[in-house]
Amino acid sequence: MKLKKNARCQICKQKGGNKKAIIFLPHHRLALCKDHYISWFEKRVEKTIKEFKMFSKDDRILVAVSGGKDSLSLWNALAKLGYNADGFYINLGIDQYSQDSKLLAEQFAKKINRPLHILDLSKEVASIPEITKATNRPACSACGTFKRYYMNKFARDAGYSVIATGHNLDDEVAVLFGNTLKWDIDYLKRQYPVLKEENGFLKKVKPLCRITEKESAMYAFLNNIEYIEYECPYSEGASSIEYKELLSKLEEKHPGTKLQFYTNFLKKMYPLLHKEEKKDLTKCKICGEPSFQEVCSVCKLKQQVSKAKTV
Ligand code: SF4
Ligand code: ZN
Ligand code: ZN
Repeated sequence: MKLKKNARCQICKQKGGNKKAIIFLPHHRLALCKDHYISWFEKRVEKTIKEFKMFSKDDRILVAVSGGKDSLSLWNALAKLGYNADGFYINLGIDQYSQDSKLLAEQFAKKINRPLHILDLSKEVASIPEITKATNRPACSACGTFKRYYMNKFARDAGYSVIATGHNLDDEVAVLFGNTLKWDIDYLKRQYPVLKEENGFLKKVKPLCRITEKESAMYAFLNNIEYIEYECPYSEGASSIEYKELLSKLEEKHPGTKLQFYTNFLKKMYPLLHKEEKKDLTKCKICGEPSFQEVCSVCKLKQQVSKAKTV
């Protein structure tokens, strides 16, 4: 259902006003003006933070910033809500994409006057294109491993108490759908908006997990947030994009499907899966970071990269 011509903001109406609505949220059956949309978004984020006990105003939060709409919208909302949130950007060395996204992340940090920490993957290991060539692993799988590792290590060493990422409802639903198709129990067991701190891993949270991609893009647009509008070149052909398209078709016909699929998983399925025992974490014998194996996956990848460099 689209926004009707001349539709009025429902919140303004309740308060005796008559502002024109600029957005209609079909699965919430809400038409809102600019100001009420922005406050609706921020309230929804805050409600999620409180409901899942993600963090409080005393926490030092590190936001994983990619330069995209979700991470910047999240950072903006957290700053506005009064949380102590700084940014962390990893320069992956992916040509123009990394240059553009880094610039946008830096500009945004200046705009909201918050610190942005930058880690250069080329200095730590090598760029993603180099790593992909040396290890023969799909770019996104290596990239995800490095991002998780350095994000956690940096945040912990710098004294942050929680890491916040900009995963939105569409991301979560696409991953949930993929993992359900494969019945990948190990992944399903970890799919929750909060991963608690344990064995050297900091607490990780997803405050946008009930915000759709469109809602987050609208929030960025209304707040004049400049974000990277094209995708990373490696994202092409990712199965999650196909799932997103499929799920969006379903959502168009049946508004609320995505939210229901996700929230019912959290309410009904997750507790059942979570009853099972966990694998024991140990420490990587090379770098000392938490790992499920003797040598962690980052150190294994690093060995492959340095081997390829010496050949
Ligand atoms: Fe990394 Fe893949 Fe995302 Fe590009 S699309 S930033 S390679 S995870
Ligand atoms: Zn209004
Ligand atoms: Zn290691």
